[in-house]
Amino acid sequence: MKYALVTGASRGIGRAVALRLASDGVPVIINYVSNQAAAEATQAEIIAAGGVAELLRFDVSKPQEIEDALERWEEGHADDYIGILVNNAGIRQDNIMVFMLNEQWHNVLDTTLNGFFYITRRLLKGMMTRRDGRIINMASLSGIKGMPGQVNYSAAKGAVIAATKALAQEVAPRKVTVNAVAPGFIESDMTADLPVAELKKMVPLKRFGRPEEVAALVSFLASDAAAYITGETISINGGLYS
Ligand code: NAP
Repeated sequence: MKYALVTGASRGIGRAVALRLASDGVPVIINYVSNQAAAEATQAEIIAAGGVAELLRFDVSKPQEIEDALERWEEGHADDYIGILVNNAGIRQDNIMVFMLNEQWHNVLDTTLNGFFYITRRLLKGMMTRRDGRIINMASLSGIKGMPGQVNYSAAKGAVIAATKALAQEVAPRKVTVNAVAPGFIESDMTADLPVAELKKMVPLKRFGRPEEVAALVSFLASDAAAYITGETISINGGLYS
């Protein structure tokens, strides 16, 4: 069976992506780093709806943890493979540049950019050998426009967008597509501490997006219908910037 691995699928956008792919009929691997209860709740919801979901804990910024977890998964799944990878795990550690700590810079780049590199490299060979793969990277409006107070996050997301374009050209001959999704403000734990009422006024559609709306876009990019789309970054931001 072809599985989808969704990183950071215990909560927020990743959770919605896992639920959506499972409802599309794809068996899903739910990755998380620390919040096991939330990951189990996502798994239970998928199974209750008749889907297939497994948990796989690893920190996306730690290559040895990724290797150990995927080796374990492959040992238990001799006839299965991971054909869809959604690089969704990400964190924010905002600060204005003059006060930004080394660790705020490194933590954000390690999770978003290095995480993308470690996991994608690990799974790419299998996709290329099978001539079948979908890689979808969760970027951000910050990576396109740049956001003050988020130089670290904007740099990481901008780099993921550039890497998406480069990798798409490398692996297209093997029928592996690589795309990015760039959300604006989406309701989740990540945006829970923001001044929502103020920010909504800036959005032409006058609201934050819902994780399910991002998941619908990921579902399309993961589908056979999107086979001729690669190297793209698709915005989903209520008209905030285009
Ligand atoms: P969230 O609600 O804070 O959830 C983050 C998820 O990532 C959780 O499942 C968390 O796992 C996981 N995670 C964090 N660090 C990890 C690590 N080192 N290894 C593995 N998993 C890790 O965030 P969200 O709003 O859904 O955001 C998801 C993605 O969309 C991120 O890449 C974010 O940058 C991007 N994005 C979000 C927005 C927005 O407005 N929300 C806008 C643009 C882009 P635990 O539960 O175990 O902590």
